[in-house]
Amino acid sequence: MIPAPFDYHAPATLPEAVALLAKHGGSAKVLSGGQSLLPLLKLRLGQVEHLVDIGKIPGLEYVREDGGFLKIGGRTREAALEHSDLVQKKYPLLADTTAVIADPLVRNLATVGGNLAHGDPANDHPAAMLAYRAEIVATGPKGARTIPIDQFFTGLFQTALQPDEILTEIRIPVPPARSGGAYLKLERKVGDYATAASAAQVTLGAGGAIEKAGIGLTDAGPTPLRASAAEDFLRGKKGDAATLAEAAKLAGEAASPSADRRGAVAYKKEMARVLTARALAKAVARAQGA
Ligand SMILES: Cc1cc2nc3c(=O)[nH]c(=O)nc-3n(C[C@H](O)[C@H](O)[C@H](O)COP(=O)(O)OP(=O)(O)OC[C@H]3O[C@@H](n4cnc5c(N)ncnc54)[C@H](O)[C@@H]3O)c2cc1C
Repeated sequence: MIPAPFDYHAPATLPEAVALLAKHGGSAKVLSGGQSLLPLLKLRLGQVEHLVDIGKIPGLEYVREDGGFLKIGGRTREAALEHSDLVQKKYPLLADTTAVIADPLVRNLATVGGNLAHGDPANDHPAAMLAYRAEIVATGPKGARTIPIDQFFTGLFQTALQPDEILTEIRIPVPPARSGGAYLKLERKVGDYATAASAAQVTLGAGGAIEKAGIGLTDAGPTPLRASAAEDFLRGKKGDAATLAEAAKLAGEAASPSADRRGAVAYKKEMARVLTARALAKAVARAQGA
């Protein structure tokens, strides 16, 4: 339970932090809330020579709308989303997601940026960000670049972030009128990772048909998964029970989970289907103002 020795750095500015990462290359890691990284180091499942703590850098914790996006600072803690009126009122999918991550103790420390940068397909934010079609801002020695969420998760615990880049912002497009979303998660007990979970975000047209649909699945493969066939199927259709059921079936078929102590493959695929049907129904109801 004691990590291997490492050098601890606590830079006061972003350029300093980026310079430290660039200097130490692959032997350095960003430390944010520490809720995934520290257990990993303590269990000696990983080892680093340098930890670059970004907790003392000002200006990385915020949640605000600006320029057509909800902008979330990379070091924003889950608790901040829970306490944000804007998130609770206008971003129900994000509010649902935050509420089921771990427990209040973890949520007081864990950050949204860390949840995404960890690249764990069992983490909850990735699916929600896929459904929202979010963008990730990464800051490195050459400045900031924007990565569409579909290009961000590159493999199991792998992301498009370079070793000398820091995830500094998450951008969610402000949903148009008649939009709604929901996140539903099956967990063995409160605070557990998902056995299966589904994120749904829809926008309805003036006539009530689904104009845009986003569906992300948690723990459904080596990377967080977009259920593209289900999204395509929904476009232009009314969100009635039969349509949502068919879309959910497509999502369940797309899921490719691994068997583990949380369940067998067939069970997890079935749960992905069931949760997608329910998340879509809730998202449509919310978009209708229910
Ligand atoms: C008891 C417990 C229960 C949990 N349950 C859940 C759950 O139900 N759902 C869920 O989604 N998660 C869960 N987690 C995992 C954890 O909440 C998330 O992975 C967490 O949000 C990670 O954020 P962090 O700030 O703590 O990241 P850290 O642990 O500090 O870092 C995680 C990884 O991301 C990298 N990183 C962090 N921030 C950045 C950044 N800004 N730029 C570049 N790289 C960065 C680090 O180098 C490291 O590789 C649980 C954790 C615990 C301890």
